[in-house]
Amino acid sequence: MITKDNIFYSFSKDNVAVKIVRPKETVIIETIDAFGGQITSEDDQLDTLNWNQVNPATGPIYIEGAEPGDFLKVEINGIEIDASGVMASIPDAGIFGSLHKKSSVKCFDIYDGYTEFNDMAIPIHPMIGVIGVAPSSKSISNGEPGPHGGNMDNKMISTGTILYLPVFVKGALFGLGDLHAAMGDGESNVTGIEIGGKVTVTFDIIKEKSHGHPIMTKNGQFYTIYSCKTLDEAVEKAAYEMHYWVKKSLGYNDSDAAMLISIMADSEICQVVDPKKTARMKMPQLYFRYLNL
Ligand code: CA
Repeated sequence: MITKDNIFYSFSKDNVAVKIVRPKETVIIETIDAFGGQITSEDDQLDTLNWNQVNPATGPIYIEGAEPGDFLKVEINGIEIDASGVMASIPDAGIFGSLHKKSSVKCFDIYDGYTEFNDMAIPIHPMIGVIGVAPSSKSISNGEPGPHGGNMDNKMISTGTILYLPVFVKGALFGLGDLHAAMGDGESNVTGIEIGGKVTVTFDIIKEKSHGHPIMTKNGQFYTIYSCKTLDEAVEKAAYEMHYWVKKSLGYNDSDAAMLISIMADSEICQVVDPKKTARMKMPQLYFRYLNL
């Protein structure tokens, strides 16, 4: 197991790997929550929070044989979350930031498949907020999403997902953290139920297949993922990525690929607060029968 004391705050080619793994190797990665474990009670105020210790990711992990231009294939085998999580309303942060004159914190005990919000039962669906690899040039804070992955806050990255991250540096330098027990698309109030845990992943390398942005499969669906300054741009770029993969798989011309996408693909929102926005596009995986990922 890679323990939660092996953390970093920016994805960087200069980070020193804490572990070297081989393709097809399975690893358990222990994480702490996005507040770095600094909030433990509803009486805690965010004014005293050390913002240099938020969004920790565990790693980085060096995957032998991963080279720029490859995809790092990351199969999420399981997510085991801790017994309690926290969330917060933060002044001037997120869609509702102007409503929050001061910060407030809520703590959650996690039961078997659910938690409680005030007097209501809330289903949980553990997911990974921050997951990525080192970019090729300057380092990127774990709070930001981008071509390297990072803070995508994509609720579909959960148990059973296979994520393909573009490799930009030798060994990829993979890390993950920022688990959520529950989060809605958009992450409107900037936090989900932030929680630590243990994630089991299996790595592999797909040689020379990367198109520079993450893609994933889950429940028979194929997804593109794209992060931009505006949501409009993110939605459009995610669609162009889908167009690339449809053409690559089926050999269609531009028009046919665009038509199939217009009929069968759904534009979806990951998050709108990080502060870049992340969109995904979803299409049934059966239309990618020649992709061989
Ligand atoms: Ca996040």
